[in-house]
Amino acid sequence: MGIPTAKCPSCGKLVSQVHFEEVNAQQGLFDQGTALRSLAYVCPECRTVLSVQIDPIAVRSDVCNHVDQTVASLAQQVADLRNQCASLEHQICQALKSRG
Ligand SMILES: [Zn+2]
Repeated sequence: MGIPTAKCPSCGKLVSQVHFEEVNAQQGLFDQGTALRSLAYVCPECRTVLSVQIDPIAVRSDVCNHVDQTVASLAQQVADLRNQCASLEHQICQALKSRG
């Protein structure tokens, strides 16, 4: 790693590392609906926010959870359809046997 030359725009100290804090980003002042889990990168000296971005780990976790739930739901639907097929197969066999 090179010698840090970046300076905090607020306190003027050299910034060799930043701290991050979890924050929510939401659209508009009054929209409480869709908050995105985000990270604020702050100066370790004066805590000025240097930048904010969506939290990539939170996004990955949310996507994985959504995919897991979708796969589980689809697996349940497949199991239900298999049970219905087995039941229909049974009914057809019984009907054919009763005909003799
Ligand atoms: Zn600073």
